[in-house]
Amino acid sequence: MALVNEHFLKLSDNYLFDDIAKRVNAFKVSHPKERVISLGIGDVTQPLCPAVIEAMHKAVEEMAVKATFRGYGPERGYDFLREAIVKNDYLPRGIHLDPNEIFVSDGAKSDTGNIQELLRWDNSVGVTDPIYPVYIDSNAMIGRTGVMENGRWSNVTYFPCTAENGFIPQLPDHRVDMIYLCYPNNPTGTVLTKDELRKWVNYAIKNDSIIFYDAAYEAYIHDDSIPHSIYEIRGARKVAIEFRSYSKTAGFTGVRCGYTVVPKEVTAATLDGKTRVSLNQLWNRRQCTKFNGTSYISQRAAEAIYTPEGQEQIHKTIEYYMGNAKFMREVLTKLGFKVFGGVNAPYLWVKTPEGVESWKFFEQLLYGASVVCTPGVGFGPSGEGYVRLTSFGDSDDCHEAMQRIAKWTHA
Ligand SMILES: *Cc1c(COP(=O)(O)O)cnc(C)c1O
Repeated sequence: MALVNEHFLKLSDNYLFDDIAKRVNAFKVSHPKERVISLGIGDVTQPLCPAVIEAMHKAVEEMAVKATFRGYGPERGYDFLREAIVKNDYLPRGIHLDPNEIFVSDGAKSDTGNIQELLRWDNSVGVTDPIYPVYIDSNAMIGRTGVMENGRWSNVTYFPCTAENGFIPQLPDHRVDMIYLCYPNNPTGTVLTKDELRKWVNYAIKNDSIIFYDAAYEAYIHDDSIPHSIYEIRGARKVAIEFRSYSKTAGFTGVRCGYTVVPKEVTAATLDGKTRVSLNQLWNRRQCTKFNGTSYISQRAAEAIYTPEGQEQIHKTIEYYMGNAKFMREVLTKLGFKVFGGVNAPYLWVKTPEGVESWKFFEQLLYGASVVCTPGVGFGPSGEGYVRLTSFGDSDDCHEAMQRIAKWTHA
């Protein structure tokens, strides 16, 4: 008899976005004439930039000719891309990485979900709350999170991020082995200053913990003083693994390409405490076994965003989204909402009026303005009383949605 991995059964099968889709469909059935605008989407909508398209066409042509055809590529990714990453994403910030510390992947979701395999099942886990659900769910699948009680996992330490603490997570008063941080943050759109991030790096050094740092939105940072990489903090290369993605940076959600930085100095101990093992070696071993690389075409596409044209083009798109964010922030603030994020991230985190629950406000907004948001509680218990709006939509839709909300709130 084959037995299932029962840890999977502890996960709720209600995936947040399915739940939202169901409610939106119910609304559409009863309001067939209404055009619903979604400010809930976590996906980009603008097309790939010309530099990327050109590089992809060229790569396809190479694949069509025997002399330049490529089969399996190197597991860590092609040298041309890893060298471009080191030279463009890190060197200008004074961070010196070896290309062998870069692992090109098919995106940050798989890597942030898979990285926990390198550590024993009985390590303790800590996450900021609210949070991108992949971090906890991937740990739940191997039994690291305990059981779910009242919306919380028994073996997970939650670092609440709310308006009350300015969305700055407080260090735990006990040891946590594995810490997930995501900055700029999804879903709150907030950031950490260097001083705040340094506290976490120092905590990890002192407690021999490992930080998994998801920087999928670093390209949206506007304020020069905000760190783009955790390696801007001294000592981080001993304790931190960083994830990056071209998904939100360059519209690669459908193309698929990202990378993970595993510095050679990051180590974890064997159970007897006598040996330190390099996670760079372990991750390489893991990837060689379970991953056969990102397509050559995707990697050439990613390389193209580092050209001057590519840079200019992707920043234009980012500015387009951030223009939406700025507009939404201004309108909603004028309407009396408490709005967070949306300055260094494409997400706005909006407090619901007078303690209305997230799902309740979701329904009110849907039935009152035909606008879809994402209930904050779907990202964790501290998300209750908030909703997330994204700036990834069409600018015209964004303007219309704000007009509708204005009309609705004045009704
Ligand atoms: C969108 C997103 C990613 C990127 O995922 P990909 O698999 O690279 O598309 C990673 N982390 C967070 C927090 C995200 O919101």
